[in-house]
Amino acid sequence: MTRRGLLIVISGFSGSGKGTLVKKLTERYDSFALSISATTRSPRENEEHGVHYFFKSREEFEKMIAEGELIEYAEYQGNYYGTPKAYVEQMLDEGKDVILEIDVQGGEIIRNLFPDVVRIFVTAPSAKELKMRLLGRGTETAQKVKGRLIRAAEEMGYISDYEYLLVNDDLEEAASRLYDIVTVERMETRRQYQFVDNFKNELAQVLQDPIE
Ligand code: 5GP
Repeated sequence: MTRRGLLIVISGFSGSGKGTLVKKLTERYDSFALSISATTRSPRENEEHGVHYFFKSREEFEKMIAEGELIEYAEYQGNYYGTPKAYVEQMLDEGKDVILEIDVQGGEIIRNLFPDVVRIFVTAPSAKELKMRLLGRGTETAQKVKGRLIRAAEEMGYISDYEYLLVNDDLEEAASRLYDIVTVERMETRRQYQFVDNFKNELAQVLQDPIE
């Protein structure tokens, strides 16, 4: 029987590098599946439909909500973002560790729906560095950068709810630490009940057999 995968939420400030970090992790290890969200925001340059997001109109998105196709959704900076249900369930059943890269509102909903979830908050090493990264991206207007920093100040209030805080200073290092977190979480006794059950049954059998 396949072990059901772990559900992992990764949230973090815009500009924390969480997207690149997750990409690195899924490229390095094939035990992960990254959920692709639906959104009503317009694609940035280099973003592809079905790769980075499923880009939807507001009407299409609201239809997905009405038909119960989303596990959770949130409004962020005037746009809808949501997690499609079918893919996540399928991947968990196949034993993949599924990563949801979602905002703090979504993270809270997921914690209530899946108490077993592991939640990790990613940040840049300092607020100044965060601002530099947002400006360096070159894809946003000054006003949008300001909006994302104001949003970061609001998100600070959610950090203490997350099980792990990961400072993304060096990408390679942060990807390794992220993998370590997942490895340790998988080793928790409560997540290994199948192994314990099998061991117990086998031990009963071993005890019945003659000892030579
Ligand atoms: P961006 O526009 O920079 O790609 O994403 C903006 C924010 O929306 C990020 O914090 C990102 O993690 C979050 N986000 C992306 N997909 C989802 C989703 O499916 N649900 C929720 N709640 N947030 C999401």
